[in-house]
This record gives sequence, structure tokens and C-alpha cells, in this order.
Amino acid sequence: MHRIVIIGGGIAGITAGIFAQKNGFNSVILEKHHTMGGECTGWDRQGYHIDGCIHWLIGTREGTPINGLWKNVGALDGVDIVEPESFMAVEYEGTTVHFYRDLERLKSSWVEISPEDKDAIEEFCRDIKTLQSFEMPVGKPADMMNIFEKARLMLSMKDAGMIMQKYGKRSLNEYANNFKHPALRETLASFSPEGFSASSIFFALAGFTKGQAGIPAGGSRAMALRMAERYLSLGGTIQTSSEVVEVNIRGKEVKSVTCKDGRTVEGDFFIAACDADSVYRGLLKGQYPDQAFEMRFNNPEEYPLASNIYIGIGYAGTLEEIPRTLKFQAGSFKINEAPIKYLQMTHYGYEPDFAPKGHTAITFAINQFQRDLDFWEELEKDRKAYKEEKARIGAEVIRAMETRFPRMQGKLKLLDVATPRTYERYCNAYRGAFMAFWPTMQGKELNHTGKIKGLNNMVLSGQWLMPPGGLPPALITGKDSIMRLCKKLKRPFVK
Ligand SMILES: Cc1cc2nc3c(=O)[nH]c(=O)nc-3n(C[C@H](O)[C@H](O)[C@H](O)COP(=O)(O)OP(=O)(O)OC[C@H]3O[C@@H](n4cnc5c(N)ncnc54)[C@H](O)[C@@H]3O)c2cc1C
Repeated sequence: MHRIVIIGGGIAGITAGIFAQKNGFNSVILEKHHTMGGECTGWDRQGYHIDGCIHWLIGTREGTPINGLWKNVGALDGVDIVEPESFMAVEYEGTTVHFYRDLERLKSSWVEISPEDKDAIEEFCRDIKTLQSFEMPVGKPADMMNIFEKARLMLSMKDAGMIMQKYGKRSLNEYANNFKHPALRETLASFSPEGFSASSIFFALAGFTKGQAGIPAGGSRAMALRMAERYLSLGGTIQTSSEVVEVNIRGKEVKSVTCKDGRTVEGDFFIAACDADSVYRGLLKGQYPDQAFEMRFNNPEEYPLASNIYIGIGYAGTLEEIPRTLKFQAGSFKINEAPIKYLQMTHYGYEPDFAPKGHTAITFAINQFQRDLDFWEELEKDRKAYKEEKARIGAEVIRAMETRFPRMQGKLKLLDVATPRTYERYCNAYRGAFMAFWPTMQGKELNHTGKIKGLNNMVLSGQWLMPPGGLPPALITGKDSIMRLCKKLKRPFVK
């Protein structure tokens, strides 16, 4: 029986493991951390649970191909899906703009805010509606399709193609200027960072408004652990606290990998289901470079990466009347000299196990980009200054919350502040990136097979193969790695 060694126990690695077992391989997952899930995780602090990932999961709509795939790997079996009526609310100078799940409601609420933007709002909603026909293809990777399958795929993507043509090369900022009302303009412009393609908002809202982007009850860690259970139930082996530090190569074949504690694990095939940079430049020491990735890593303007400052807060009270995700104006505080205009808070009032009774867990995500990542890298060298900066940011967020919600005064507790360095430390994530290259107007699409030129039996898998990344690309690429291997070995693929 062929043995597959999978490096990384995130969503891609676990998915690859599940399909490896289903297809008669003997597999082992080596995971650096003491728990499974990679960036799809959560952690406990002072009686609260901080969910560290899912704000929305593409694939929660029953009967769709991607929903079937999530169920196949045990992620959604028997799990309730939380579908907030408002995906996000944005406050701007006294006006609250909602991204309602019900598209008609979204439209009428926006027209109520700004009747003079009626035409622009109608076009916005019409294009979202058109894009609702788009379903993420999960069957076969394009490189395994025959000409008829490719034609069918192209046809199924025609609405997505139309939206990309219309908005792909426009920035969200520029698109927002179609709207006259400052609150609508600001809501749209602040959806993604400056310079990012306007198409992203249409894909997000098309998914949300057709019920394809809900939240699995129990959160991110629970979902990842369900998948790990499914893998174990199929006979797979998990070795946590097993960071791979060396790949042992003879000729064009990888023979084994060595873990940090000196253990060597042999295999016939190797799937690196982890960060692309840590594979190409780290484990493979730059000896098997990949042009597509090199070009992107060396051009962060066109291929930006985003990380987060992720803040967990416990509130001694309940928040049912506040939308699950709310963006509000932050007042005046700065991080790395850059003013933070908005704070985006997500609360978990619907999760009874995330906080003590009568309390609520809250998270804040503050995106960090290139210049911030340099700042954190430098700051972390002085551990005291790094800790102080984290504490300062936490205190600023609490201050902003107390200003916005005076009733919260004295009832907020800082639980945790994670920085881009935290993601690097725990997940080996290049520059703390939580997704792959973000869509900009200049950036070219990447659809990588994971093949590592010069090596016959090792491939890359995971979100980096399908920018902008996220959980569905991790799931799909994990499965695709095994599909390609089955093809190589001339075996039918078992779903
Ligand atoms: C705050 C936050 C919010 C997010 N929100 C969403 C969301 O709402 N929806 C969505 O779709 N996505 C979201 N994401 C993104 C999503 O979490 C990632 O896209 C996805 O988890 C990536 O999965 P992966 O398996 O490709 O990689 P990872 O999760 O990075 O998994 C790689 C694994 O490999 C391990 N590893 C690395 N190097 C080694 C080594 N040398 N040896 C052994 N193990 C190693 C790591 O520890 C890790 O467990 C969010 C991420 C964050 C951080």
C-alpha cells in the first residue's frame, strides 16, 4: 500500500488525508501545532472561546456541490447553520447601512437611505442577483478535464466572467463613487482595502444573499476537529507537535521528511499542505523555485498579502440587538502611524458555549498589510515593546467600544491580541497571511496544480494554489491533490 505523508493539518491537509484514506492509501498527517485545523481554529481564554476564523463559509447551502464536499469530509454533518439576517452593518456619521441576506430588503433599505442612488443601487443588486448563479466548481481540477468538461465549465462560469469583465479592473473605491450618499460610498469603499478590485464585493454578497455563506454552529475549531475525527475514523494517523524541518531528497524523489524532534518519516508520496513560501524557500531551501510564486512574492504591490491583528474581548452582558458583525467609526487611534478609521466587531451571542452565561465573546479583526508586516517583524525583536503595543491596541479597542456603547463601560475584558507574528509562529504563515494573494486590479489569476518542478513525488496543496484563498480553496485543493495522484497511478478516484 502506498504511503502518503501530509505536511500540515489545516483544512487542506485534513481533506487530502480523508481522500487518501478513501482511496486506499496509508496516510499520516504531520502537524506542527498541538492541535489540528491550522488557521481554521479557535482558542479558550478566561472562560471565553475566541473563534479565530469563520466569518462566513462558502458551501452552507444544501444541495450544492460544495456543500456536498464539505459534508463528505464531515465538516457540516448534522450541524446547524447560523444565517444572520445582516451579513454586516456599517455605521457612518449616524447612518447604518446593512448588507441584508434578503436582497430585496437590502435594496429597499439602501433606497430608503438614498433615493437619489436608486439606479446605482438597482444595478448593484441586479449584478449580485446575476452572480447568484455562480457555483464554485468542485468536481475535477481544470488540468484533469477533457475538452467537453472544460467547455461545460466555461459555460457555467459565464455570469462570473461577466462580473469580472465589468468590475475586475475597477477598484472598489472608484466603484463606490457611483453612489452619491456618503454612507453608501463609505460602506462600499471600506469593504476591501484601497486598490482592491470591486469584483470581490459581488462574489461575497452573491454567496451571502443566496444562503451559500452561513456559519456552522459551534465555530471554526469544532468544524476542523469534526474533519479530523472523520479522517481518524477512516484509519488515518495524526501526529501533532510534529513540525517538518527537512525534506530528504535523492535524485528527483523525496524519500522522507525529518521533524524538529529528529524523527524521520518515510513515504512514497508527500503532500505539502502548508504555506507556499515555507515550502519553496523554507523546506526546499530555494532549490526548486516556482516562477509563478516567485513573481508574486517579489511583487507585493500587485499581489498583496493581508494579515490581521485579532483581538478577543469578553463582555459581561448580552448583545442580541446588535448585528453579528458591525463596523463602526473608531475615533482617533493609530497603529504603526496609520489611523484606524473603523473597527469591525463580530460577536458570538448566538453561541451559548463561547462565554459564561449572560456574557458574550467578541472579536475584532484589523487588517494589516505590507508596511505593517515589516513593523511587526521589527517590533517583535523587542519582546517588551511588542507586548506593550499589543496591550495598548487592546486598550484602544476597549476605549472605542465604551465610547460607542457607553453601557459597556467597566464590563469589557481584554482576552487576547494576536498579531501577524502570531500567525507566523503558530502556522508558519508567510508574513502572517491569513489568505493567499488578494485580488487587485493588476494582479493575474493563478490556478496552480501544486506540481513542484524537479520533484516526482511531492506536491503543494492548500489555499495558496487558488488565490485569494480561504476555506473552500483549502478544501478543494486538498481533494484535488489526491485526485491527481489517483490519475498518476491510473486508479479510479473514490469520492
Ligand atoms: C482571522 C481569520 C479569519 C478568517 N475568516 C475566513 C472566513 O470567514 N472564511 C474563509 O473561507 N476563510 C477564512 N479565513 C481563511 C482560512 O482560515 C484559511 O484560508 C484556511 O484555513 C487555509 O487552510 P490551509 O489548509 O490551506 O492552510 P493552513 O490553515 O495555513 O494550514 C497549514 C497547516 O500546516 C501546518 N504547518 C505549516 N508548516 C508546517 C511544517 N513545516 N510542518 C508541519 N506542519 C506545518 C500549520 O501549522 C497549519 O496547521 C480566515 C483566516 C483567519 C486567520
